[in-house]
Amino acid sequence: SFNTFTNQHPPEQETGPVAIKELLQRQRDFFAGGHTVDLAFRKSQLRLLLQAIKSHEQELMDAMYADFRKPAFETYTTEVGFVEMELQLVLKKLEKWSRPRRVSETWLNFPASSHIYSQPYGVALIIGPWNYPLQLVLNPLIGAMAAGNCAIVKPSELAPATSAVISRLINTTFNPAYVAALEGGVSTTRNLLAQRFDYIFFTGSTQVGRLVMKAAAEHLTPVTLELGGKSPAIVAEDADLGLTARRIAWGKFMNAGQTCVAPDYVLVQEQVKDELIEQLRIAITQFYGPEPEASTDFARIINDRHFQRLSNYLQDGLVRIGGQTNPASRYISPTVLDQITWSQPVMQEEIFGPILPILTYSKLNEAIEQVNTGEKPLALYFFSSNKHQQDWVLEQAHFGGGCINDTMSHLANPNLPFGGVGESGIGSYHGQSSFDLFSNQKSVVRRGTWLDIPLRYPPYGNRLKLI
Ligand code: NAD
Repeated sequence: SFNTFTNQHPPEQETGPVAIKELLQRQRDFFAGGHTVDLAFRKSQLRLLLQAIKSHEQELMDAMYADFRKPAFETYTTEVGFVEMELQLVLKKLEKWSRPRRVSETWLNFPASSHIYSQPYGVALIIGPWNYPLQLVLNPLIGAMAAGNCAIVKPSELAPATSAVISRLINTTFNPAYVAALEGGVSTTRNLLAQRFDYIFFTGSTQVGRLVMKAAAEHLTPVTLELGGKSPAIVAEDADLGLTARRIAWGKFMNAGQTCVAPDYVLVQEQVKDELIEQLRIAITQFYGPEPEASTDFARIINDRHFQRLSNYLQDGLVRIGGQTNPASRYISPTVLDQITWSQPVMQEEIFGPILPILTYSKLNEAIEQVNTGEKPLALYFFSSNKHQQDWVLEQAHFGGGCINDTMSHLANPNLPFGGVGESGIGSYHGQSSFDLFSNQKSVVRRGTWLDIPLRYPPYGNRLKLI
């Protein structure tokens, strides 16, 4: 039955400062031992990770189902399969990425050659959220390992079943002096953050991101922060509304809207609002049937606190589609809200659930003005058939990344660095950008010794006049 899944929090297993210090010291020693410099070592460990994921596929899918009934297809495509694809890419490309990169010379250094060398930082800390609990700790870990770092991984305690499987998978695959996972909540994370790491990679809320950066500042530790925000979907009057509705509904209701890059709200040209809502109704029914609660393809809300928070939004504006809830299973139906203004609670924070408010604009520049008035979002989606307008929006609007005529598919291409800007984050990763992010890029000039032009040496005399 749909109501049998539970994610009762187990009594939280927190790790104290002493144990963390010890683990960190072991990793420092391992790193100092130089084991991770070896490319063959890195590759063999990444292969081990790939095997471990493959052999835990079913367990991981079951865990994510237990945590919030994440549909198996979504779990495979956005978590398990996604991570496996990243691993395969890294295994194929690592040798190329890790080669010193030659840059062109300046005559000032003649004779010389100049290269950028990628060197691991040391020990990385990776902290993840609950909403894509596997992908968002393992993809950063792949980057950290590929670049030759040691790492401590802290999955989210709010997806406890998944956190347990990930930790077991990591801790039975790797020497903890190289890569280790620690389960736990706020107290463990605080204890981790009090230590000095060489890199911190955090995915989660903007609010906690601030705490992470503060803690990192104590040790001048570089950070990547993958945060959230209110990502708009802007729909122009010339968009193909049927297609637009399907692509917005797909991005919004996947994982029951608990996706950092989900379209948070729609800004639609006022003349096509009603038609768009009609098309959304058709798309939602096509995807989830007349009774979305009975669909096996629609996830549940992660916990009671978030269920309550989201249920309160249903009082804002006018419910045009959905609006049903079931507290026992933390179900909220795919919902579309009309007659929404910026002052309502649903527009005051990131929604992170299956509720889609519709706002309107009359001229495109007003839409962009509304977006640019708020904090810079993680993503922006623009639907229009007019290339001119597409280019104009890309030029004017500030956001981390996004799509024209689609939602979320910019994540599918590992050649596109993924990250936010402003309150939606600092830094970006995926594919080669993950490798680069976890590497210190050392710039080195190798000078020739057969020629030594004395012009730069004092005494300078009146050489200035020659320039
Ligand atoms: P969260 O910030 O509450 O938690 C993230 C991690 O921080 C967890 O591991 C948690 O244990 C830890 N944590 C929580 N409170 C803490 C505290 N006071 N001190 C120290 N550590 C603490 O985020 P969440 O609810 O798990 O995830 C949802 C948020 O993450 C949304 O804002 C979403 O947009 C964002 N997100 C961003 C991305 C991205 O790639 N940019 C991806 C997924 C989610």
